[in-house]
Amino acid sequence: MSNALSKSRYISAVQCAKMLWLKDHKPDVFDESYLNQAVFDAGNEVGDLAMGLFGPYTEVPYGDLGEMIRMTKQLIRKKTPIICEASFSQDGLFCSVDILKNIGRKHVELYEVKSSSHIHDIYLDDIAFQVYVLHQCGYQVDRACLVYINNGYERIGELDLSGLFRIEDLTAVAYAKQPEVEANVESFRTVLRKRKEPARDLGACCFSPYACGFFPYCSRHLPKPNVFDLAAVQLRTKLQYYRKGLISFQDLVEAGCLSSSAKLQAETELYDLNAHIETDQIAEYLKNITYPLYYLDFESFQPPVPLYDYSFPFEQIPFQYSLHYQKKKNGRLYHKEFLAYPYDDPRRAIAERLCADIPGDVCVLAYNMSFEKSRINRLAELFPDLREHLLMISSHIVDLITPFQKKWFYCKDMHGSYSIKAVLPALFPDDPELDYHHLAGVQNGAEASAMFLKMRFMDQETLEENRSYLLKYCELDTYAMVKILQKLQELTKE
Ligand code: SF4
Repeated sequence: MSNALSKSRYISAVQCAKMLWLKDHKPDVFDESYLNQAVFDAGNEVGDLAMGLFGPYTEVPYGDLGEMIRMTKQLIRKKTPIICEASFSQDGLFCSVDILKNIGRKHVELYEVKSSSHIHDIYLDDIAFQVYVLHQCGYQVDRACLVYINNGYERIGELDLSGLFRIEDLTAVAYAKQPEVEANVESFRTVLRKRKEPARDLGACCFSPYACGFFPYCSRHLPKPNVFDLAAVQLRTKLQYYRKGLISFQDLVEAGCLSSSAKLQAETELYDLNAHIETDQIAEYLKNITYPLYYLDFESFQPPVPLYDYSFPFEQIPFQYSLHYQKKKNGRLYHKEFLAYPYDDPRRAIAERLCADIPGDVCVLAYNMSFEKSRINRLAELFPDLREHLLMISSHIVDLITPFQKKWFYCKDMHGSYSIKAVLPALFPDDPELDYHHLAGVQNGAEASAMFLKMRFMDQETLEENRSYLLKYCELDTYAMVKILQKLQELTKE
């Protein structure tokens, strides 16, 4: 067991000291599915790019801690002006500074880089800890700043780092937090010395600022399902119920405190009720759907650093779509698809293909249409020559989520959710053809985005293999819509 506090361990402990203890004493109960590798990768990419923000720099290579610290001292001694990943340690405390300006005479400025367009409170703790460690090492921190993403930056031509990044001077806040850091360090060390698991009740810290991977372990004593499984209830309200002892679905239903949709979820699961179906509402909704009918689904990715001209940080860039279509009700099913190669801006090609594949005056079905509409409208903005056709497509989209979002159809296996990943298995429980888990390589949208981003670095053979995974995944999304619509039509048959 280690008494050492690195910056990341300190940040974990600020969120919850029990998390720090569990990391050391029971690492095997951590649920890895809570980790988001894509976010981690994006952070690394932004960090690498930001290194050049102040001109030429020297990077301390990641590796043996002692070696990183030794090299940092040497670089400071040699008056190296900009040092990236400058590493410091004193009395069991350790941190690496993303960008360190070496002013001389033991005066420095530190810059913490985040792949985010907002300043979150936890970043202040992060910076305050670094200032504390550097002081312990005998340095005077003249400035402590956060470097984060300016989401108003539009790339045109070469990347302009000074436009892409914002710099916020947090020196005053970091200094004001020094007594708190000192007290925290003391208290976290006391926790680490304990043999017994610290008592800590579930609370907001389990979900924010980061979802804690120890939650399944810490909530193992709760009945299943419980208040935290309610889908249509805000976290704050769930925690209020929890603190009042309203934990099981039985408690919640008996207390009569739930909204109609949360009550529907709780009662359906608790009493094993049959599906709730409002056929009149569904029949009315189905009148909006006309033939020929096109089923459309996009995949997109959100690079924090804009890769293409006329794009913004974190902009959703569509790179793929699947399109099923039927000329008449119950008619033959056709399929078209588009998947960009990862090297060039995919937007012009996708816009052209959409216009070629979808006539402007047909009904288009999407699941959660705000996404498809917003992407098509953005393409219309970018390509005035295709604008009219694209806007026609967008204006004819009907949302297949509506009957499920409005609870006109609800069954217990949806567990309060109306996402297509919940609706599909609930409607077709034992159909391997409609089971995302049977897909190789890519099983959800996040994996599809991550895959497309990684494709830039793949050899041709691996790239083609992964393209086939993406094509199959996206095809299932629209095929699922075909089957879901069919089911709704069957439910409303006289
Ligand atoms: S689940 Fe909650 S109580 Fe348990 S370690 Fe994580 S934050 Fe702490």
